[in-house]
Order: sequence, then structure tokens, then C-alpha cells
Amino acid sequence: MAKKLSKKDQDKFRAVLAAKRESITDKLTKTISESKEMEVNVAQDVVDKAETSYSKEFLLSLSDGERRQLLLIDEALKRLERGGFGVCQVCGKEIGAKRIAAIPWTPLCIECQEKAEAEQRTA
Ligand SMILES: [Zn+2]
Repeated sequence: MAKKLSKKDQDKFRAVLAAKRESITDKLTKTISESKEMEVNVAQDVVDKAETSYSKEFLLSLSDGERRQLLLIDEALKRLERGGFGVCQVCGKEIGAKRIAAIPWTPLCIECQEKAEAEQRTA
């Protein structure tokens, strides 16, 4: 088990994750309203505010990675509440402080990340 995060650190990471999440959901909501493929209630007032129009291709290409990131952020927020934040979800080792500060939503330590990327390349 990793050491418990201090309340201060917990609040800090929660704020960072929440801000990141918001910036993505903002964009995603626009994407959804743009592609009109999903019915999302929250989309409506964003639709009204959204003046910028991007090409559908751009939005769709953007949304895939960001949707994935959104899931990672949600998972990280859950770990922050339940415990296990900052612990690699594969090997269970503590994720380095520098890494978790740079990408607080990462579920993997650097070794497992590199392994996963190497596997992707050979796949
Ligand atoms: Zn690991």
C-alpha cells in the first residue's frame, strides 16, 4: 500500500483533475452537439453558447483521445476518494511524485507505461 496522501495533496490533485475534466467535458459537449449523434441534456445550453464551429473531422479526431483521458480522470478521482491514488494499477507500485504531478490522472507507473507503449508498437 502506498502512503496516505495528505489532505492538502488530496485537495490539490482533486482541483487539478476537476479543472482538467471540465476543460475536456466543455469541448466534448461541443463535439457531441456538433455531431448530433447523441442526446445529451447538458449539451443544450452549451449549444446555445457555442459560436465556434470546427470541422466534424477535427472534432471527432480530437474527441477520441480526450474521451479516453476523461475516463482516466474519472478513475483517478475515484481513487482519490477511495484510496489507491498514485499507485500503479498494473504492478501496484507507487507512481513517482514527478510523474503524478505532471499527469495526475495516469493509472500507470513509468515502467508499465513504457511496457504498454512498446506492446502497442509491436501489435
Ligand atoms: Zn507499474
